Amino acid sequence: MAWRSSATSNEVLVANLERNKLIESERVKQAMLQVDRAHYAPASPYEDSPQPIGHRATISAPHMHANACESLLTYLQPGAKVLDIGSGSGYLTAVLANLVGPSGSVVGIEHIQPLVDLSNTNMSKSEQGRRMLDSGQVKFVTGDGRKGWKEDAPYDAIHVGAAAAEHHIDLTDQLKAPGRLFVPVAEGYMQHIYVIDKKEDGSLERNKLYGVQYVPLTDAPE
Ligand code: SAH
Repeated sequence: MAWRSSATSNEVLVANLERNKLIESERVKQAMLQVDRAHYAPASPYEDSPQPIGHRATISAPHMHANACESLLTYLQPGAKVLDIGSGSGYLTAVLANLVGPSGSVVGIEHIQPLVDLSNTNMSKSEQGRRMLDSGQVKFVTGDGRKGWKEDAPYDAIHVGAAAAEHHIDLTDQLKAPGRLFVPVAEGYMQHIYVIDKKEDGSLERNKLYGVQYVPLTDAPE
């Protein structure tokens, strides 16, 4: 997934992702068109690359956000409940909210308070974002995402935006059956995306996808 492109607008960014088959479904395309990445990325927002957002965090590359949505798509139906762990800039949280619609909801959890504040500020830049925050369709909370977020569990889909060093049991416990977890997992020097399905009988099925580079899920800084 090393493809890179630069574009001059959100529409061109999304068109490039679609042309390169990094966006495959119309629903993901429409959701990404609804969220202007310039509201979330401080520099080169329409380039397909990660960007620093401060506090040693990055907004992930658009192709990773597209792929996360594509991987979780079956579970992102209108009305679904979603948890976005390591929500950082808030960009993906907003895209996920577009996918589940006004009857669904998304919680973004982040352990660095200034980034929680930043995600609220970023989303408030658009009328749609302000509406989603005011209605409670989206909320950002401060906490250790390795424990999930019990208050609103269970979730149809959980996205993890930082690499886990182990299987965090709280996350699969907080999935509905059926439900799906998308998580980068650190294995030695390598990281891979895993998609973990909780089936209707409660059993788990793990599928390893491709190699990635994410910042790790860590303890909160002092
Ligand atoms: N999805 C975000 C990714 C941000 S980078 C985006 O694209 O903007 C990963 C984020 O995970 C960082 O913001 C980091 O602060 C956060 N993080 C790391 N460990 C965490 C933990 N234990 N709990 C919650 N957030 C965590």
